[in-house]
Parts: sequence; C-alpha cells; structure tokens
Amino acid sequence: MQHQNQIICDLLRSGYIPQPIRNGNGATDPGPRDILRDLENPDMITPPATDNGLLPNMRYSFSDTHMTIKSGGWSREVTAREMPVMTTLAGVNMRLTPGGVREVHWHIASEWSYMLTGTARVTAVDQYGRNFIADIGPGDLWYFPPRLPHSLQGLKDGCEFLLLFDDGNFSDLNTLSLSDLFAHYPKEVLAANFGVPVSDFNCLPSGQVYIYQGTVPGPLECEAAKSPYGVTPLSFKHRLLAQTPITTPGGSLRVADTSNFPVSKTTAAALFEIKPGAMREIHWHNNNDEFQYYIAGQARMTVFGENGKARTFDYRAGDVGYIPVGYVHYVQNTGNDTLWFLEAFKSERFEDLSLNQTMAVTPRDIIAGNLHVGPEFLDTLCKEHFPVVPCFYPNSQS
Ligand code: MN
Ligand code: MN
Repeated sequence: MQHQNQIICDLLRSGYIPQPIRNGNGATDPGPRDILRDLENPDMITPPATDNGLLPNMRYSFSDTHMTIKSGGWSREVTAREMPVMTTLAGVNMRLTPGGVREVHWHIASEWSYMLTGTARVTAVDQYGRNFIADIGPGDLWYFPPRLPHSLQGLKDGCEFLLLFDDGNFSDLNTLSLSDLFAHYPKEVLAANFGVPVSDFNCLPSGQVYIYQGTVPGPLECEAAKSPYGVTPLSFKHRLLAQTPITTPGGSLRVADTSNFPVSKTTAAALFEIKPGAMREIHWHNNNDEFQYYIAGQARMTVFGENGKARTFDYRAGDVGYIPVGYVHYVQNTGNDTLWFLEAFKSERFEDLSLNQTMAVTPRDIIAGNLHVGPEFLDTLCKEHFPVVPCFYPNSQS
C-alpha cells in the first residue's frame, strides 16, 4: 500500500497526469477529476482505439462497497446490485477475528470459498444428520451445498476469505440464521419443541447476530460434536493452492471442479499465477459467465462481444471482474509483481476455448483466407499454445 502511494506521489510530482488524448485526438481534462482513479485506470481514461460499441461495466472494487462492521469481524459484497451484468454468482469478502464467528445459518444459494489469509474452522450438517467439521488454511477452499446449515469461525490469527454464491442477486445479509429463528418463533413453541420451560428462552438474542466475537476453539481432534450418522461422505474442503500446479512459461494454474472436488457441483474455479510480462491467453468459456477475483498484482483485460463490441478494463488486487459466457478475453499482467487471480463459474466443470487451439485445428487455407495471412505466418498463428503465455508487455523481461 505504501509502495503504491509512493508510486502515485512520484507520478504527480513528475508532472505525469493521464489525459484522454490518443494519436492526436481528444483533449486534456482540466477537471474536476479524480486523478488517483485515473492513474489506476489508464485504459478507462484513454481506451485502446480498438474499443468499440456498448458493453456494460465489468469491474467493481470491494473498496467501493458498503462495509458491514460487527464485533468479531466484517463483510462486504459485490452483487448484481453493484454490477447488473453479474447474474450467475455474487461475491462476499469477509474477515473474522481470532474466535470471531459467522453464526449458524443457511441460504438458498450454494457457498464456495477461497481462504485468502489465516485459518478458520468450518462446520456443516447435511439432510441425513451427518456433519462436517474442518480447519481451513490459506489457499484452501470450502463448498457448502445449497440450504445446508453451516458456521465459520476464525482460529488463532483470524482469517479473511472470498465467498461465492451461485446467484448474482444473493446477499449474505439476507440468509436464514439460527438467532433469527429463535428471535422470531413464539417462545411457547420453542419450549414445546425442546421440552423445556419458556423461561429458558429469556436471554435469546433479539434478532440476527450475523457475526459475533467468540473464543478460539481447541484443536480439531478435541471437537465434541460427533454425529451418530457419521460425517458427510464427500469432503466440503479442497486444498487448491497445495495442488501441484500446471506450469507454463508464463505462470501456472490450479483447477478445482467436480473432477477433483466432487461436492462442488455448482461452482468450478481456477487459480492463475501470471508472471510479470506474461498473460492469460485469449480465450472464452462455453459453460457459463466468468466471475474473477484479483488477489494480488494488477492486470488489464479486453472483453470482446458480438458485432465488434470491445471494452478494456484495468484491475487491481481486491477487484471483481465479470465476463458474459462466450465473450472473449485475455488477462495481461501490467505490473512488476506476480499477478494472482481466480476465474470462477456457476458450473460443474472448468472449461475454456482457446483462440490458439481453435486456429491450430482449423484448416490452414480457411485461416489464411479469413485473415489475409501469408503462409510465412501460418505456422506461428496456427499452433497449440499454453493457457498462460509470456507476452512481454509492458515490462519486457529479458
Ligand atoms: Mn453461508
Ligand atoms: Mn476466462
């Protein structure tokens, strides 16, 4: 953060102010303007000349969202309310203190999560009375099938994670919670249900607790909550970052979908590492829209749609990107540090179509005639490629 502020200060001191001027066209922007945002979004203030037509906004920063602050942690969300194009998945960024608890609750949507930092204990119960309790570390995932009750608790250093729900209109502030249930059922009904006097319910929370400060639990081995029906047959946890990645000259990727994380039927994801000067190749997806979450570094992406529509966006750590199904995109590392981001889909499987792969297996005469390419370039254009490629832009690496 300090580093980033220093860069901005240096740019301002050097007199560099980005202007909407391109190839002699345009004019300066004398203001009012937010120069810090313009510096962060060079492709917004001066888009590439190839950008064209009407595409909706496909970037939203968690920094521009409402922060819900509670004793025990915080949460904020990017949903279809923030970015209307985002219909398939909604994202929540949450932090829990050591011992902080996201209370027992459930919801209509499924829940998929990536642990960004720290550790948490997660618990869930299924429709057969079987339970699942596990500790989740950095780079681990969890997945809760829709409508199963679950809870999350920060362990000794607390934690921060990204949550995805398979409905763009979902809100984590609009769930069914244990405290709400007890607050909104007649006390005599609760008494009858549990076979205890009404007076036992005199100290209940008056409404939804959401997040509360608890005490850090003991080791997992000492956990007393054991079900007579055993544990859920499928694990709700997957160690994504611990996978041996698929490595390429420009970076690496790790995939989690029903092929290796079978419980995650409604969310598939891939974690990409893009080295400085490299990019995720030009591609699109056949199964569903893509939700992106930028974990570290900075990037740019051009989204291409029907009839020549194209729009370029800049992304930084903490931003969410979104791409409608079938729309073409690349993700280019525009920083000096390694770029890390997630691609996630409301789908059973992670699948994509590569431009290079498409051209490699299409008859060369077609490509030559289609693109007016001479035979000397065909071998270069029409060969298989890596999903993460070195591209030597803009920081050419020798
Ligand atoms: Mn939940
Ligand atoms: Mn993609």
